[in-house]
Amino acid sequence: MKTQIKSLLELQDIDLQIEALLLKEKEIPKQKEKLQIQEKKLKQEIEDSEKTHKKLVLDQRECERQIAQLQEQIKKYNNQLQGVKKNEEYQALLKEIDEIKKQIGLKEEEQIKIMLQMDDANLFFLEAKKRIETEIQQLKKQEEQIDKELQEVIQERKGLEQRRLEAQKSVSPELLSHYLRVKQRRKTGPVVVPLKDEICSGCFMQILPQVVNEIMASEKIHTCRHCGRILYYPGLLEEQEPVIIPTD
Ligand SMILES: [Zn+2]
Repeated sequence: MKTQIKSLLELQDIDLQIEALLLKEKEIPKQKEKLQIQEKKLKQEIEDSEKTHKKLVLDQRECERQIAQLQEQIKKYNNQLQGVKKNEEYQALLKEIDEIKKQIGLKEEEQIKIMLQMDDANLFFLEAKKRIETEIQQLKKQEEQIDKELQEVIQERKGLEQRRLEAQKSVSPELLSHYLRVKQRRKTGPVVVPLKDEICSGCFMQILPQVVNEIMASEKIHTCRHCGRILYYPGLLEEQEPVIIPTD
Protein backbone atom coordinates (compact mmCIF):
# COMPACT_ATOMS: atom_id res chain seq x y z
CA MET A 1 0.00 0.00 0.00
CA LYS A 2 2.88 2.34 0.81
CA THR A 3 4.38 2.14 -2.69
CA GLN A 4 0.91 2.45 -4.13
CA ILE A 5 0.31 5.69 -2.25
CA LYS A 6 3.73 6.93 -3.32
CA SER A 7 2.98 6.14 -6.96
CA LEU A 8 -0.42 7.73 -6.67
CA LEU A 9 1.10 10.88 -5.16
CA GLU A 10 3.57 11.02 -8.03
CA LEU A 11 0.71 10.71 -10.49
CA GLN A 12 -1.23 13.39 -8.66
CA ASP A 13 1.79 15.67 -8.70
CA ILE A 14 1.96 15.35 -12.49
CA ASP A 15 -1.80 15.87 -12.76
CA LEU A 16 -1.64 19.02 -10.66
CA GLN A 17 1.17 20.37 -12.81
CA ILE A 18 -0.87 19.60 -15.93
CA GLU A 19 -3.87 21.31 -14.34
CA ALA A 20 -1.81 24.45 -13.64
CA LEU A 21 -0.45 24.48 -17.18
CA LEU A 22 -3.91 24.08 -18.69
CA LEU A 23 -5.03 27.05 -16.64
CA LYS A 24 -2.09 29.03 -18.00
CA GLU A 25 -2.99 27.97 -21.54
CA LYS A 26 -6.39 29.49 -20.93
CA GLU A 27 -5.07 32.70 -19.35
CA ILE A 28 -2.22 33.48 -21.74
CA PRO A 29 -4.44 34.18 -24.79
CA LYS A 30 -6.37 36.70 -22.68
CA GLN A 31 -3.19 38.71 -22.22
CA LYS A 32 -2.76 38.71 -25.98
CA GLU A 33 -6.34 39.86 -26.49
CA LYS A 34 -5.68 42.83 -24.22
CA LEU A 35 -2.65 43.80 -26.27
CA GLN A 36 -4.60 43.42 -29.48
CA ILE A 37 -7.30 45.75 -28.18
CA GLN A 38 -4.58 48.28 -27.36
CA GLU A 39 -3.16 47.84 -30.83
CA LYS A 40 -6.55 48.42 -32.40
CA LYS A 41 -7.01 51.61 -30.40
CA LEU A 42 -3.67 52.92 -31.58
CA LYS A 43 -4.50 52.13 -35.19
CA GLN A 44 -7.80 53.93 -34.72
CA GLU A 45 -5.87 56.94 -33.46
CA ILE A 46 -3.88 57.04 -36.70
CA GLU A 47 -7.05 56.67 -38.75
CA ASP A 48 -8.79 59.49 -36.89
CA SER A 49 -5.82 61.72 -37.38
CA GLU A 50 -5.79 60.87 -41.07
CA LYS A 51 -9.50 61.62 -41.32
CA THR A 52 -9.02 65.04 -39.74
CA HIS A 53 -6.34 65.78 -42.27
CA LYS A 54 -8.44 64.58 -45.21
CA LYS A 55 -11.36 66.71 -44.10
CA LEU A 56 -9.16 69.81 -44.04
CA VAL A 57 -7.92 69.03 -47.55
CA LEU A 58 -11.52 68.79 -48.73
CA ASP A 59 -12.49 72.04 -46.97
CA GLN A 60 -9.53 73.76 -48.58
CA ARG A 61 -10.56 72.54 -52.04
CA GLU A 62 -14.10 73.67 -51.45
CA CYS A 63 -12.83 77.13 -50.59
CA GLU A 64 -10.77 77.21 -53.76
CA ARG A 65 -13.75 76.14 -55.80
CA GLN A 66 -15.96 78.82 -54.28
CA ILE A 67 -13.35 81.52 -54.82
CA ALA A 68 -12.99 80.49 -58.48
CA GLN A 69 -16.75 80.61 -58.84
CA LEU A 70 -16.91 84.09 -57.36
CA GLN A 71 -14.12 85.29 -59.60
CA GLU A 72 -16.00 83.91 -62.58
CA GLN A 73 -18.99 85.92 -61.41
CA ILE A 74 -16.90 89.10 -61.32
CA LYS A 75 -15.70 88.44 -64.85
CA LYS A 76 -19.30 88.08 -65.97
CA TYR A 77 -20.29 91.37 -64.34
CA ASN A 78 -17.27 93.11 -65.80
CA ASN A 79 -18.37 92.01 -69.25
CA GLN A 80 -21.87 93.22 -68.54
CA LEU A 81 -20.51 96.61 -67.46
CA GLN A 82 -19.33 97.31 -70.97
CA GLY A 83 -22.80 96.94 -72.40
CA VAL A 84 -24.61 98.99 -69.73
CA LYS A 85 -25.96 102.37 -70.79
CA LYS A 86 -27.71 103.62 -67.70
CA ASN A 87 -25.66 104.98 -64.87
CA GLU A 88 -28.02 103.39 -62.32
CA GLU A 89 -27.45 99.93 -63.72
CA TYR A 90 -23.76 100.63 -63.92
CA GLN A 91 -23.62 101.61 -60.27
CA ALA A 92 -25.69 98.57 -59.26
CA LEU A 93 -23.29 96.23 -61.05
CA LEU A 94 -20.30 97.89 -59.45
CA LYS A 95 -21.93 97.39 -56.07
CA GLU A 96 -22.50 93.73 -56.89
CA ILE A 97 -18.86 93.34 -57.89
CA ASP A 98 -17.77 94.99 -54.67
CA GLU A 99 -19.95 92.65 -52.69
CA ILE A 100 -18.44 89.61 -54.40
CA LYS A 101 -14.92 90.92 -53.81
CA LYS A 102 -15.75 91.11 -50.10
CA GLN A 103 -16.95 87.55 -50.21
CA ILE A 104 -13.74 86.48 -51.91
CA GLY A 105 -11.77 88.23 -49.19
CA LEU A 106 -13.63 86.31 -46.52
CA LYS A 107 -13.15 83.02 -48.35
CA GLU A 108 -9.44 83.68 -48.67
CA GLU A 109 -9.20 84.32 -44.94
CA GLU A 110 -10.99 81.04 -44.33
CA GLN A 111 -8.59 79.34 -46.69
CA ILE A 112 -5.57 80.65 -44.80
CA LYS A 113 -7.07 79.42 -41.53
CA ILE A 114 -7.61 75.97 -43.00
CA MET A 115 -4.06 75.86 -44.33
CA LEU A 116 -2.68 76.71 -40.90
CA GLN A 117 -4.83 73.98 -39.39
CA MET A 118 -3.52 71.61 -42.04
CA ASP A 119 0.05 72.42 -41.08
CA ASP A 120 -0.74 71.69 -37.42
CA ALA A 121 -2.66 68.54 -38.29
CA ASN A 122 0.17 67.40 -40.50
CA LEU A 123 2.75 67.88 -37.81
CA PHE A 124 0.54 66.20 -35.23
CA PHE A 125 -0.20 63.34 -37.59
CA LEU A 126 3.46 62.70 -38.37
CA GLU A 127 4.42 62.79 -34.70
CA ALA A 128 1.49 60.63 -33.65
CA LYS A 129 2.18 58.17 -36.44
CA LYS A 130 5.81 57.82 -35.42
CA ARG A 131 4.92 57.36 -31.76
CA ILE A 132 2.08 54.97 -32.47
CA GLU A 133 4.11 52.88 -34.86
CA THR A 134 6.77 52.47 -32.21
CA GLU A 135 4.13 51.51 -29.66
CA ILE A 136 2.57 49.02 -32.06
CA GLN A 137 5.95 47.47 -32.69
CA GLN A 138 6.44 47.04 -28.96
CA LEU A 139 3.00 45.48 -28.64
CA LYS A 140 3.79 43.09 -31.47
CA LYS A 141 6.97 42.07 -29.71
CA GLN A 142 5.01 41.42 -26.53
CA GLU A 143 2.47 39.41 -28.50
CA GLU A 144 5.25 37.32 -30.01
CA GLN A 145 6.62 36.76 -26.51
CA ILE A 146 3.19 35.62 -25.37
CA ASP A 147 2.89 33.23 -28.32
CA LYS A 148 6.27 31.82 -27.44
CA GLU A 149 5.30 31.44 -23.80
CA LEU A 150 2.11 29.65 -24.81
CA GLN A 151 4.03 27.26 -27.04
CA GLU A 152 6.42 26.51 -24.18
CA VAL A 153 3.55 25.83 -21.81
CA ILE A 154 1.91 23.51 -24.34
CA GLN A 155 5.18 21.67 -24.88
CA GLU A 156 5.69 21.30 -21.15
CA ARG A 157 2.18 19.98 -20.71
CA LYS A 158 2.62 17.48 -23.53
CA GLY A 159 5.82 16.28 -21.88
CA LEU A 160 3.99 15.83 -18.60
CA GLU A 161 1.18 13.97 -20.31
CA GLN A 162 3.75 11.51 -21.63
CA ARG A 163 5.21 11.14 -18.13
CA ARG A 164 1.71 10.69 -16.80
CA LEU A 165 1.13 7.67 -19.02
CA GLU A 166 4.21 6.08 -17.49
CA ALA A 167 3.37 7.11 -13.94
CA GLN A 168 -0.10 5.67 -14.00
CA LYS A 169 1.29 2.25 -14.88
CA SER A 170 2.72 2.07 -11.36
CA VAL A 171 -0.70 2.54 -9.78
CA SER A 172 -2.98 -0.47 -9.44
CA PRO A 173 -6.03 -0.36 -11.74
CA GLU A 174 -8.46 -0.29 -8.79
CA LEU A 175 -6.69 2.55 -7.07
CA LEU A 176 -6.30 4.39 -10.34
CA SER A 177 -9.98 4.20 -11.17
CA HIS A 178 -10.82 5.23 -7.62
CA TYR A 179 -8.49 8.20 -7.96
CA LEU A 180 -9.90 9.17 -11.35
CA ARG A 181 -13.45 8.96 -10.04
CA VAL A 182 -12.75 11.30 -7.16
CA LYS A 183 -10.73 13.59 -9.40
CA GLN A 184 -13.55 13.86 -11.89
CA ARG A 185 -15.92 14.83 -9.12
CA ARG A 186 -13.62 17.40 -7.57
CA LYS A 187 -12.45 18.94 -10.89
CA THR A 188 -9.51 20.93 -9.42
CA GLY A 189 -6.89 20.63 -6.70
CA PRO A 190 -5.45 17.58 -4.95
CA VAL A 191 -7.65 14.55 -4.33
CA VAL A 192 -5.06 12.50 -2.43
CA VAL A 193 -4.47 14.35 0.81
CA PRO A 194 -2.56 13.65 4.05
CA LEU A 195 -4.29 12.94 7.29
CA LYS A 196 -3.13 15.51 9.85
CA ASP A 197 -3.98 15.04 13.53
CA GLU A 198 -7.05 13.01 12.68
CA ILE A 199 -8.22 15.70 10.33
CA CYS A 200 -8.62 15.51 6.54
CA SER A 201 -6.31 18.18 5.15
CA GLY A 202 -8.62 18.56 2.15
CA CYS A 203 -11.74 19.69 3.97
CA PHE A 204 -10.43 20.01 7.55
CA MET A 205 -13.09 17.71 8.97
CA GLN A 206 -12.51 15.23 11.76
CA ILE A 207 -11.98 11.60 10.75
CA LEU A 208 -13.35 8.76 12.88
CA PRO A 209 -10.68 7.17 15.17
CA GLN A 210 -11.36 3.73 13.73
CA VAL A 211 -10.71 4.99 10.21
CA VAL A 212 -7.64 6.92 11.39
CA ASN A 213 -6.22 3.71 12.81
CA GLU A 214 -6.79 1.84 9.59
CA ILE A 215 -5.21 4.59 7.53
CA MET A 216 -2.18 4.70 9.83
CA ALA A 217 -1.84 0.99 9.63
CA SER A 218 -2.04 1.41 5.89
CA GLU A 219 -4.40 -1.50 5.63
CA LYS A 220 -6.68 -0.11 2.99
CA ILE A 221 -7.48 3.00 1.05
CA HIS A 222 -9.96 5.29 2.75
CA THR A 223 -11.79 8.26 1.42
CA CYS A 224 -12.87 11.16 3.56
CA ARG A 225 -16.59 10.77 4.11
CA HIS A 226 -17.03 14.54 4.07
CA CYS A 227 -15.25 15.52 0.87
CA GLY A 228 -14.52 12.21 -0.81
CA ARG A 229 -10.75 12.76 -1.08
CA ILE A 230 -8.37 9.82 -0.71
CA LEU A 231 -6.58 9.95 2.64
CA TYR A 232 -3.08 8.73 3.50
CA TYR A 233 -0.90 8.87 6.55
CA PRO A 234 2.20 10.99 5.79
CA GLY A 235 4.23 9.24 8.51
CA LEU A 236 3.98 6.13 6.45
CA LEU A 237 5.98 7.68 3.65
CA GLU A 238 8.67 9.00 5.97
CA GLU A 239 9.50 5.57 7.33
CA GLN A 240 12.88 4.35 6.22
CA GLU A 241 13.02 1.84 3.43
CA PRO A 242 15.04 -1.18 4.47
CA VAL A 243 18.51 -0.75 3.04
CA ILE A 244 19.56 -3.71 0.99
CA ILE A 245 23.31 -4.08 0.89
CA PRO A 246 24.29 -5.87 -2.26
CA THR A 247 26.51 -8.85 -1.65
CA ASP A 248 29.00 -10.03 -4.16
ZN1 LIG B 1 -12.20 15.60 3.61
